[in-house]
Amino acid sequence: MSESRPLRVAIIGAGPSGFYAAEALAKELEHVSVDLFDRLPTPYGLVRFGVAPDHQKIKSVTKMYEKTAQRDNVRFLGNVAFGQDINHEDLKRHYDAIIYTVGASSDRNLSIPGEELLGNMSATEFVAWYNGHPDYEAHISVVNAEAVAVIGMGNVAVDVTRVLAKSVDELKTSDIADHALEVLKDSKVKDVYMIGRRGPAQAKFTTKEVRELGELLNADIVVDEAEMEIDEASLASIENDPTTKKNIEVLTDFAKKPLEGKGRRVHIRFLASPVEVMGDGKVEAIKLEKNRLEPSGDYINAVGTGEYETLAVQMVLRSVGYRGVALPGVPFDERRGVIPNDKGVVLDAPKGKPVGGEYVAGWIKRGPSGVIGTNKADAAETVEQLIALQGEAELHDDVNKNPEVVLELLQNRGVPYITFDQWLKLDKLETEAGLASGRPRVKLTNVQKMLEACAD
Ligand code: NAP
Repeated sequence: MSESRPLRVAIIGAGPSGFYAAEALAKELEHVSVDLFDRLPTPYGLVRFGVAPDHQKIKSVTKMYEKTAQRDNVRFLGNVAFGQDINHEDLKRHYDAIIYTVGASSDRNLSIPGEELLGNMSATEFVAWYNGHPDYEAHISVVNAEAVAVIGMGNVAVDVTRVLAKSVDELKTSDIADHALEVLKDSKVKDVYMIGRRGPAQAKFTTKEVRELGELLNADIVVDEAEMEIDEASLASIENDPTTKKNIEVLTDFAKKPLEGKGRRVHIRFLASPVEVMGDGKVEAIKLEKNRLEPSGDYINAVGTGEYETLAVQMVLRSVGYRGVALPGVPFDERRGVIPNDKGVVLDAPKGKPVGGEYVAGWIKRGPSGVIGTNKADAAETVEQLIALQGEAELHDDVNKNPEVVLELLQNRGVPYITFDQWLKLDKLETEAGLASGRPRVKLTNVQKMLEACAD
């Protein structure tokens, strides 16, 4: 490696993991040249399209990513789709190493009857819609739903519950997509049921997030004290788990708090599994089976009791976890929905052999878990492996590895790639539009319009 022949690394996916990997490479290696690709013209992945619009503080992490993108040896190349505009063979030819940081863009379903009914959808879809992801611009109607069931007890379930329960006044100071605000302002939602198959001690949300539900201006919280009883096995399992203990305190306070007669109600329900979404063409109800808990080794299972309940709802949002999607030409573990790897080194199959020169970080490496910051250590582990395997390599002059050649390739293919400076123009336009209306930004949600805004 030398100044004239740095290690060339392509990172596929400019979300948090992509930026953390780029930063780690730029910090650790003297002679490195990183290209950070994204299929969309905008950087930041789930920070822009996943983090809730009313959680602006979390989004301030992009200030650090901005610094990474402005390093001399890091280039952001947006609007370049892997497998379409640039493929696996191209990357092998133009880079010494590839890191996949594409996240987990799909979701898991419940595998129960009625999931095809209108009004049943994934939280992934709903979140992407209200966050203005260009793939999800299409109208999602919540206008006619008076009651919504949100299945799952993770932070995503809390996010979608909160967005559904908030008044338009609470939402209009966020960077929620204009099309979502337009629909939600006419929302008739009265009851949102957040439904967990296990008990309060197994809920996956964090304390800050669940506590925030109690601060909603427009919604009371309903928790049934009977569902707050913690069994012995659960008590033992949380002995050294301060977060869960705090969660239980918050939920217990909710259960004791008298209702104030606000416009909406958020019902936090435990020990119930959806068994059927019911309706004629569209969602009209959800059938739940009551569960009891049964320990099995270290895990506490939900086991159906044969007792059922039907809730009248007109919309069902399943929030039961994201799932990775296979990339063309890259190994994939169908069972886990990740790229098979050993500490970030891509393997040809689960527990297989390294493919060589290919790495992975973030959700597509370990599955959809952890907060944004979790990806920093995760990307650092991957970069450590990359450096151990390739950091000392003797690199020879190679015309294809010239950073200009890949730009020529994209130009020759007519791919209108977006540089970081171009993104900054779009960023400015969005934040200035926000300023005018008292919001952090007003997002463009259409790729063509984004490209026009980025144009020189
Ligand atoms: P998650 O935390 O894994 O939660 C998934 C939930 O779905 C769990 O409650 C799980 O219950 C339930 N579930 C799974 N399969 C089910 C089924 N068949 N029937 C009923 N329930 C089922 O996933 P997530 O909420 O999608 O969040 C993904 C990651 O992003 C998490 O690490 C989360 O903390 C993070 N995140 C953080 C924030 C934030 O910091 N503000 C915001 C959003 C997301 P079991 O436990 O019983 O499996």
